[in-house]
Amino acid sequence: QKVAGQVDAQDVPKLEVHFPLCMKNLVTVLKKEHHLKHDGRMQFGLFLKGIGLPLEQALEYWRMAFVKMNDEEFKKGYAYNIRHNYGQEGNRKNYSPYGCEKIIHSSTGGAGQHHGCPFKNFSPDRIRAEVRAQNATVTNSEVEELVGLVTAKHYNIACSKYFELTHPPSAPQSGPTALTEPITHPNQFFELSYKFSHT
Ligand code: SF4
Repeated sequence: QKVAGQVDAQDVPKLEVHFPLCMKNLVTVLKKEHHLKHDGRMQFGLFLKGIGLPLEQALEYWRMAFVKMNDEEFKKGYAYNIRHNYGQEGNRKNYSPYGCEKIIHSSTGGAGQHHGCPFKNFSPDRIRAEVRAQNATVTNSEVEELVGLVTAKHYNIACSKYFELTHPPSAPQSGPTALTEPITHPNQFFELSYKFSHT
């Protein structure tokens, strides 16, 4: 389901503000290293498809992101996989974006691997820093409540709490933002965040 109509390659950076932490992490690595390993490309590429990036724009986005690679290398090693994700190659299966369940249980830990769920993979200190970077006015007790959910392995509830802490209401007297449903899908996080700032 698209929230912003068709998304073009050059729109993606403007929409990063609405990404959940798992995708923010991947796009940060992609910008720094101009590359992502296969599992990260699948997780992030299908998420981008879910926000409304069509195949031609996806090819353009990844071509720009892999700026250090020559055209031949990109075509041979990567363009096929991108088309495959959009059902245009191989078994022509039209792949869906991964939900939290799949991402949380994906195996990580290999060198240079950045896919997976940060609420499972990041240290408590890194989670503290991430939430403070998004909202400098967050209180210590709010941060520790979030960290408590992470250490209790309630990753989806931690992500929902992170959403609430990073989307404070414009009128503080109205109380904290409360989600009516927990986050169970990165594209749900994106859509709720997009709607939050466009209503
Ligand atoms: Fe991403 Fe889901 Fe983890 Fe949130 S709970 S960071 S949306 S995988």
